Amino acid sequence: MELTSTDTTGPEPAGTALVVNRVHFPVTALGPGRRLGVWVQGCSIGCAGCLAHDTWAAGAGPRLTPEAFREVWRRALERGAEGLTVSGGEPGDQPEALTALLRVARQEAAGRPADLLVYSGHPLAELERRAPEVTGGLADAVIGEPYRADEPTTLIWRGSANQTLTPLTVLGRERYGPWLDHRPGRAPMQLVASDHDAWLIGVPRAGELAALERSLRTAGFRQGQVSWRPARPDAPSAGPYAYPPTIPSGSGETSGDKESDR
Ligand code: SF4
Repeated sequence: MELTSTDTTGPEPAGTALVVNRVHFPVTALGPGRRLGVWVQGCSIGCAGCLAHDTWAAGAGPRLTPEAFREVWRRALERGAEGLTVSGGEPGDQPEALTALLRVARQEAAGRPADLLVYSGHPLAELERRAPEVTGGLADAVIGEPYRADEPTTLIWRGSANQTLTPLTVLGRERYGPWLDHRPGRAPMQLVASDHDAWLIGVPRAGELAALERSLRTAGFRQGQVSWRPARPDAPSAGPYAYPPTIPSGSGETSGDKESDR
């Protein structure tokens, strides 16, 4: 299942089309169960130590219209998706488009126990100011606050100890309540690798990322071919996953056995 950038650019006003970095299914490292992951493109926050540099540049990605998203989400649900995770980048930088996408997600998931999780580098109150419908019932849970490299944590799905997981609905409390204080032995992570580059899904702990990078160097990957390190000026292109012209959403690319960077 692939959408081209043409498919994702529709007639809707720019405000309701979400500029994305990528969409992937299944995601198993950012929330419970098998999920559809949507990474928005553009982040105005700029946390020191962020592992998602490739999502910082605003506007540098395909536009996912609400109707194009409806089709992607519907197919993911047919394949057993148990939830949607919107990460980034900063979803709160595109409040209107984020709201439109979550409205569609809610409509299509009606009658199914599929939860909607949103990551944000903003505190919950700021996300609420920007996108009140999102925190007012569209999202089942929000993981908020900026990443702080000097406050490491072992809490699941969070990158630093200041980040909060807040259930916002009945389904959110049911889904996320048991995980609020859960500290797995290893952070869940997924590694998606192609012949050209590697992309990490999840929130790795510092030592885990170094070990992963050593393994990738052994496998022949260079700096600039991984999504969590900016390329050197003289490095070759990061390849098709940097700003993908297509939205991969099949299940064939997932190769990691661990699940976590947002
Ligand atoms: S951690 Fe998230 S909020 Fe912070 S700079 Fe990276 S993408 Fe932006």
